[in-house]
Formats: sequence, C-alpha cells, structure tokens
Amino acid sequence: MNYQNSLEFARQQDEQDELKDYRNKFYIPVIDGKETIYFTGNSLGLQPKSTKDYINIELEDWAKWGVEGHFHGRNPWFAYHEMFAAPVAKIVGALPKEVVVMNNLTVNLNLLLVSFYRPTPQRYKILCEAKAFPSDQYALEMQVKSAGLNPDEAIIEIAPREGERTIRHEDIISAIEEAGDTLACVMIGGVNYFTGQVFDMKAITEAAHKVGANCGFDLAHGAGNIELKLHEWNVDFACWCSYKYLNSGPGGVSGAFVHERHCNNTDLPRFAGWWGHDKDSRFLMEKGFQPMKSAEAWQMSNAPILTMAAHKASIDIFEEVGMEKLLKKQKALSGYLEFIVDNINASLSGTDKSLEIITPRNWKERGCQVSVIAHGYGKDLFNELTNEGVISDWREPNAIRMAPVPLYNSFEDVYRFGQILSNALKK
Ligand SMILES: *Cc1c(COP(=O)(O)O)cnc(C)c1O
Repeated sequence: MNYQNSLEFARQQDEQDELKDYRNKFYIPVIDGKETIYFTGNSLGLQPKSTKDYINIELEDWAKWGVEGHFHGRNPWFAYHEMFAAPVAKIVGALPKEVVVMNNLTVNLNLLLVSFYRPTPQRYKILCEAKAFPSDQYALEMQVKSAGLNPDEAIIEIAPREGERTIRHEDIISAIEEAGDTLACVMIGGVNYFTGQVFDMKAITEAAHKVGANCGFDLAHGAGNIELKLHEWNVDFACWCSYKYLNSGPGGVSGAFVHERHCNNTDLPRFAGWWGHDKDSRFLMEKGFQPMKSAEAWQMSNAPILTMAAHKASIDIFEEVGMEKLLKKQKALSGYLEFIVDNINASLSGTDKSLEIITPRNWKERGCQVSVIAHGYGKDLFNELTNEGVISDWREPNAIRMAPVPLYNSFEDVYRFGQILSNALKK
C-alpha cells in the first residue's frame, strides 16, 4: 500500500474501513477529558459496550433462580462453557471438541504440561524461546523440578544470534534436531510478547514430531491476533488468555487446545476434576475418573460464569466479524504504524538518535504489534507520549511496544500518534 503521513490519508483509510463501525462498540478510555490513543490491546483489550449486559443477564438469572440457574437460566450454567467451543475453535483454527475455555492462562499451561511434558531418563528436555514471558519460564522451571530434574540441563532456550533481535527459525529447527531423542517437548510463545515475532508453528511442530517430541504453544499474543490453524498444523496442545486481543476483561478466562488425537486417548496422564468427567455420569458422584473425549477432559472445576459472560460478549463480536477481516485490516494498520515510525526515524538521520523497529518487517511474521527501540532516548520519551494521551507499553531500558488493534483502532489513531511522537522526540 502507498501510505502517506497525513491526516487526510488516514481519514480516507478510516472512511473505507469495513470495520469502522466497530470502534464505537468499545469504550475508548478518556483520561483527563481526552480520548486516548490506545495501543495496548496486546496487554488488556478494551471493554465492549455490550459486556455489562452479558454479565447482567447472569446476575439476574442468579437472583431469579439461585442454583436452578444451572439448568433453567437463559444460558444454563451447566453448559455455559460449551457455547465457546465452536466460535473459539474458529479463532484458533481447531475443531470444536479440541477447545475448552477454563481457568487462567498459566494454570492451563501447567495443566497441559502435566500431560504433554512426560520426561523419562532418556527423553527429558523441553525447548522454549529465550526470554519467554516470565510466567511461562517459571512454569517450565517448576515442571522440570517437579520431575526431579535440573532446569539448567533440561531446559533448552533458543535466543537471537549475537547482534540480532529476533530468533531465526533455522536455529529453532536445528536445536530441535540436535536435541533429538532427548527432547520430550517443545513449548514456545507462538508470538513473542516482546518483539511481536510470529513463529512458524507448522514447521516447528513438524520438526518436534520428527524427533518424537510433543509440541505446544502459548498463544497469549496469538489468539485473536494472527491466523492460527492449530488442528491442521498438528499442534499437540496450546493455551491462551482472553484479556489481551480477545477483549474479555482483566484476568478473564483462558482457552486451551488439545489435538483430537489426544482427546480420544483416555489413558493420557492428567490432573482431573469433576468437570472433566464424562458428562452423562458426572452427577452419579461415583469413584473412577472417566475423561470426556474432548479438551473438556482437562477442565477440573465448574465454570466461572461471570467472567465467562464477559468473554461471551467479546467472542460474539469476533464471531460476527470473523478473523479474515480482522487480519486484512491488521496488516494495513500495523503496516501504517511501521511506515509512520520509519518516516519519523528518517527525520532523525544525522543525529545520534534513532528509532529501530525490532518486529519482523515481513507481515507474515508479525501480528498487530510493532516494537520499537528508541536509541538515545529514555523513559522521558515514554512519559511524554503518555502525557499526550498515548497508552503504550514501555520496557526498560528503551523499548516501546504498540499494538493498533483492528477492532477499535483507526488509521487516524496511528497518524495522531506519529504527530505526538514527532513532537516528543524534539523535546
Ligand atoms: C500475558 C501472558 C501471560 C500471563 O499469564 P496469566 O496466567 O494470564 O497471568 C503468560 N504468558 C504469556 C506468554 C503472556 O503473554
């Protein structure tokens, strides 16, 4: 696309945007009387205006029915989570039976590792990206320790090469091949939370399977952001949160994926509870766990209806829009942000300062997020952006992460951000 750094161009793009009406379906934070430029949908997605009504229905049904709401409410709670299987499966590219919405993300990661990281004396290693999101690192560390192993020996971390920002795929693949039959599991963040790099999950899964290892992904930054085909890619397991790109509210419920071929394996070791037990005999309250033949088998507890109601409000929007339109606008919007940052960077040439985009330039290797290193600047720059109403994310010493989100961000947001950034750099 031929981008231009002008308000006229941005407004023209917004006018042609087939998703333009969706911005008005969300609350855009207003701080000090000024509408913010909200670029942190990768951290906490905005609230749909419909969320309140979805939660209210459940509050009303609880008031009206008490425990009977499990079966007689408008959305019977007994089966509430089942409403997510089909629409969420579309978002992650799965079969409905492969998806369950439950718990929170790190909880689900741990539950899935119990099943899919089964170290033996010969095959005990687990491979992940270096500087994975800390929660994931802690989960892996303690899974390894729980198995009586030493994390330094059992965890293989793949880092960018010296002087590079993102991880080379060939390095991931060759590390998997090198680990060979000592490798039990690969667990990578499908989209790196810091650089925004999207990994080739299909190729990684293939490589893992070739050496006999399981392969799973943390899709906290993937779900609702990039195109996913978990079933087709043959991924063994995955999990994600719903409060980032899926706009389901702080601490919202997480989603988990287990490939069909494992769903039918009732012998798979796992942690269990009554909500994963065969539905028909669940209330006989008898001894002996009989797992459901779906991802639901990993569900332990009855569903948290109020946070699920918030999730439902958002998932209904995704269902209405579909990932295809989101992906199309996302490419154009993150491309525009890239263009604006490059444009402003050009104005810094000849100085000792610069803006370096560390997110891959190839749109196939990124989603909404664009991460920028502001060489020669410190947190003052970020504070200035914040003062001017830009909500973005700062990582020490000088990285800014921004994610214009197709559902509610506009080209004008990106243009105005550029103006603010330009002014801030001059201060
Ligand atoms: C956001 C994020 C988390 C957060 O975990 P919670 O259990 O939801 O608090 C974990 N892992 C990754 C990769 C994330 O991006």
